[in-house]
Amino acid sequence: MQEKGLLIVLSGPSGVGKGTVRKEIFSQEDTAFEYSISMTTRAPRQGEVNGVDYFFKTREEFEALIKQGKLLEYAEFVGNYYGTPVDYVQETLNKGKDVFLEIEVEGAKQVREKFPDGLFIFLVPPSLSELKKRIVTRGTESEEVINNRMNAAKEEIEMMHLYDYVVENDKVENAVEKIKAIVIAEHLRRERV
Ligand code: 5GP
Repeated sequence: MQEKGLLIVLSGPSGVGKGTVRKEIFSQEDTAFEYSISMTTRAPRQGEVNGVDYFFKTREEFEALIKQGKLLEYAEFVGNYYGTPVDYVQETLNKGKDVFLEIEVEGAKQVREKFPDGLFIFLVPPSLSELKKRIVTRGTESEEVINNRMNAAKEEIEMMHLYDYVVENDKVENAVEKIKAIVIAEHLRRERV
């Protein structure tokens, strides 16, 4: 039987730059993992494309997916649902390919329960003040949303101990290199141990 692929989960507080790191990973030609596009009820930001950045859903559609068991995990984050389509993940792993999820911490906890052998990587900001600066600089959020996100971030950082590796996002290219090195090392470890 074909070896199953590795489920790689990148998580960390909102604003730490998970999305930027993920986009950089998938813009590189030698990246061999498959990205699982999430579902969300949040409105598209400027430039975001349905089926590329997210599958944008209404709350009714999302709740129907939950009922039908179509989500590997889901979480409500700052007033919107976010979730991972289970069929895509399972089918891709079954083909022997690595699947990469970029999700918030509550969802990552649910994935850990279902895939204890997944590779869980936590991205941290150099500091909390640096995190706030990044959320504010993005300029797409109101003050209330920024404060909600900072409060969520403080709680999320406490979940760090549940992860296999912690990567500091000082510079995107450094974080990307570290994540790719971790995946290579993890494959070798699993083949040989
Ligand atoms: P944003 O609205 O900034 O795109 O995403 C908000 C948060 O939701 C980020 O921390 C992002 O990683 C997370 N997220 C994106 N997709 C998923 C998903 O499928 N499941 C979960 N649990 N979180 C997600």
